[in-house]
Formats: sequence, structure tokens, C-alpha cells
Amino acid sequence: MSPLTPRRKFITSTVKTGLGVYLGSSILTACSSSKAIAGAVPAAFNTGFTQQPLPYSYSALNEAIDAQTMEIHYSKHAASYATNLNDAAKAEGVDTSKPVEDALARISKYSAKMRNNGGGHYNHELFWKCMSPNNTDTPAGALGTALTSSFGSFETFKTQFADAGKNRFGSGWAWLFIDGDKKLRIGSTPNQDNPLMDVAEIKGFPILGLDVWEHAYYLRYQNKRPDYIAAWWKVVNWNYVAGRYQSFI
Ligand code: MN
Repeated sequence: MSPLTPRRKFITSTVKTGLGVYLGSSILTACSSSKAIAGAVPAAFNTGFTQQPLPYSYSALNEAIDAQTMEIHYSKHAASYATNLNDAAKAEGVDTSKPVEDALARISKYSAKMRNNGGGHYNHELFWKCMSPNNTDTPAGALGTALTSSFGSFETFKTQFADAGKNRFGSGWAWLFIDGDKKLRIGSTPNQDNPLMDVAEIKGFPILGLDVWEHAYYLRYQNKRPDYIAAWWKVVNWNYVAGRYQSFI
């Protein structure tokens, strides 16, 4: 896909083939780290407007996150994002039979309520899947190789990703994402923004996200966000993250 392909034509043809597409307003910018991604994501990774069941029990990730935090986070915070997103979508005429990703790619056209809750819903649906009680310590296959070649070593990647989370002032997310040049990148976004949004400073397809809002860790870790991040690696579902990577590369 040429970055100069007319946007409307591309979106039309992509919708016809039933694939999600992410294009941002900065498509003509020269900086590769902010270039929108012009690729299609397999339908298996599309996100609906309805909150999906948590794929494990509230206590399953206790090694890193306590059950009470998980319960409040999933059943209160994340559930509210989904409810408020659907309210906003109805008010603003968004077709909720299409993937949330489609709305995020043109989020600048919608309200702050859509941006905050669309991002909030998408980010949490991704976050739950990025974790599991049964994990390998490191990603195997193409993602493992790519992390090493992109960041020097797996340990260096972890340090840089953790720093992105630690250094996010206030509330937000740390991301591992694939940019418009199909390179792996680390970044962070404020509030509930994410790299799929046309308004985001970093643009790409997120394959791993870490919630660093205080509601994600405060009951056990209080002000010690670095301790939460250090423990969180134990519950990262590398098989899922690798699947997202391989689907897009
Ligand atoms: Mn959260």
C-alpha cells in the first residue's frame, strides 16, 4: 500500500474486503515514528463494542495483581468505558457493528467522550488478553528475534518499556507497537489514548499495552509504580503478543 494512495478510495476498498484499517491524519508527515500505519489487521484481532469476559479469574494473576484490583478494574472501570462508549456511539451515529478500531482511526472527528471511552474500552480489552497466569518468560519465534534485533536484547527492551511506563506523568499507557514502517517501537500515551488514534503522537498497531493508571496497581503497590511494572512481566502472555506481531508483519 503506497502511503500516497487516496484515503477515501483505500478505506472504501478495505471496507469492502471486510478488513480493519488504520489511517491517521499525519499520513504525509516525514517522521516515521508518527507515520500512520497503512496496513490491514486480521479480523481475529478486531475489537467489538461489547466488553468480553475476562479470560481468567480475578485471582489468577495474583503473582502480579491482586484479585480485588482485578475485580474493580474489570467490573467497574473497564465496564464503565464500554457503557459510556456505547452511549457516545449512539449519540454520534457510530456504527457499532464495525470494529472499534475504525472509530479510533478517525477519533478526531468525534467528542472527547468517544475518545476517552473508545480508547478506554479498546485498551482494556487488549490489556486483559496481554496477560495470563500461564506464561513463558520470553517470547519465542519471530517476535523474540525482532525484539532482540530492534532493541539489542530482550532485557534492554524490558528496561525501555518499563521506563516508558514509569515516566508517563499521571495516567496513561506504555505500548509496544508496530509503526508504519513495520518496525517495533516503544512509546506511551496519556489518559486512554493509544497508537491507533489519529490524534496520537505515536502511531501504529499496538501488540502489548500496560495500564499505568493508579487504579491498575494502587491497592497493592500504592505509589510504587516501578514495583508494579517489575512484577507485571510475570503475567505477560507472550504467546498472545507474538500472535498479534505475526498477524501484522
Ligand atoms: Mn485501567
